[in-house]
Amino acid sequence: MVGNVYTGGCLCGRIRYRASGKPSDETHCHCEICRRASGAAFVSWATFKAADFVFTKGEPARFDSSEIAFRHFCPNCGTQLTFQFHKSPQFTDVTLASLDDPGAITPVDHIWTNRQIPWIRLADGLPRHVESRPSGDE
Ligand SMILES: [Zn+2]
Ligand SMILES: [Zn+2]
Repeated sequence: MVGNVYTGGCLCGRIRYRASGKPSDETHCHCEICRRASGAAFVSWATFKAADFVFTKGEPARFDSSEIAFRHFCPNCGTQLTFQFHKSPQFTDVTLASLDDPGAITPVDHIWTNRQIPWIRLADGLPRHVESRPSGDE
């Protein structure tokens, strides 16, 4: 295997995964769908090539979180694990907080900050995008 290898999984341990290669589009997403899906104020993501991502243990559940995308999560403990657009199955987004080493990948910006919860105070100096990135990703 070439490059970095990242492992992660859910809270209860039923679902495990491995991602490799170079992640991209590392971001904090403040959209309402991420918020409700996770029960958290925002969700941090990185994108991998789908071919470089594999579930190594267990069978995740799948939920169509909108008409354009679906998410994988643990059917036992509920941890959110991945996000994928129907139109771009060649990419899989992974929740950074489910990594065994969540500090290994650092987000570079915030997206959907028009949905940011008022009591969140950000001082990380990262670029903020009111909606998705200008590139149109998520
Ligand atoms: Zn679990
Ligand atoms: Zn989101």
